[in-house]
Amino acid sequence: MRRWALRSSLAVVLVLMMSLWALSGTETARNLVVVLVDGMGPAHRQLGELASKGGLSMNRMPYLGCMETSSYGLDITDSAAAATAMFTGRKTYNTVIGYDYALDKSESIMSLASKAGMSTGIVTTSALYDATSAAMYANVLMRSEYRNISKQLVASSVTLAAGGGGGYIGPLLKEATAPSREKPSFNAYFDLDALSRGALPAICLLAEGAMPKEIDSGTSPYGLKDMVEAALGMLAADGRPFMLLVETGSLDGSSHDNDAAGVVRGMLAADEAVKACLSFAGKDGDTLVVVAADHETGGLSLGAGNGLNVNVSKLLKVRASAGKMASEAASDWKRLKEIMKKYADYDLDDEDAARVRISADPAREIGRLVSYESNVSWGSGSHTASIVLVTAEGPGGAAFSGWYDNTEFFLKMRQALGL
Ligand SMILES: [Zn+2]
Repeated sequence: MRRWALRSSLAVVLVLMMSLWALSGTETARNLVVVLVDGMGPAHRQLGELASKGGLSMNRMPYLGCMETSSYGLDITDSAAAATAMFTGRKTYNTVIGYDYALDKSESIMSLASKAGMSTGIVTTSALYDATSAAMYANVLMRSEYRNISKQLVASSVTLAAGGGGGYIGPLLKEATAPSREKPSFNAYFDLDALSRGALPAICLLAEGAMPKEIDSGTSPYGLKDMVEAALGMLAADGRPFMLLVETGSLDGSSHDNDAAGVVRGMLAADEAVKACLSFAGKDGDTLVVVAADHETGGLSLGAGNGLNVNVSKLLKVRASAGKMASEAASDWKRLKEIMKKYADYDLDDEDAARVRISADPAREIGRLVSYESNVSWGSGSHTASIVLVTAEGPGGAAFSGWYDNTEFFLKMRQALGL
């Protein structure tokens, strides 16, 4: 009899433990913040780590996963197919947003969240009509259909959208808010302070196209971190559970230019934004923060056979992007040496100067020279098939551990929000 009692109480304990384990596996979060750093592969995260004092916050979140990034039938994706896979769970062709490989419309996690009564937000340093953000609210066969995508944003249920893209979205906002029209379904802002004092739903345009890269932003009044803090404040005050996408596109652009100095500054700015998200989540207690990338760009390699250290401090002193140096030199190539000395403290010899000048992509040549001096090299000027790292912190974050396909990212978000 005693033995039976022992056995049954052991069984009860076992069942309790199993149900607790099961519960922890399906833990859900009230709010979800996804920080997507376009083009950020594992080496980008390590370059940021080397450049930061005390390490990047995004590299210290408790759950770590590896994500494959292919598009339908291709090892190397573009940002449109990658965002469609991650945000709708469906593989598709490069350039396609919000349709799967059979060209059936695919619904995004943000649309599902909105239907479930959550408020939704997008903040980006890219144009709001660019592929990554667009995959949350638009369905188009060509990512370059900016006007069509912009119309879909204005008509969408997104509660808060802030970023670049005024060139296409601005005229639509003016049209929608004209005095002759009936009251528009959203408020339009053209300044971050005005947005912070304003009301939802809102669209806030901060640049005509993409916002300047961090390395070129100079006296810019605000960066991604300020945009994130404004968005989190407004969405939290709205009272409903929310989902926020935070995107930065500068790292992808810098990596296409093989510009390690631009990457370093982009990584530090992205991490400042992650810190703001983690600080909000720490106080809130029911917010899941996930940091991810859509693909790797550039085949970044931390070692160019040029010594046994990466000279990050030299990269941190560079004061202009390779693109900016190239466009300044383009008006008078004789000034190239002077320009590279001024912004990058780089002593350009005649042979390299000639190579930059005749190159089809002078920005990339400049980027490669400056990178190599700090012992950083690049395998490509395009996207690669490398995996990307995903880190997560908060309720439901454990689901983002492991090795998985980009379409599973959607399922993990869905599970984390209980949708
Ligand atoms: Zn790219």
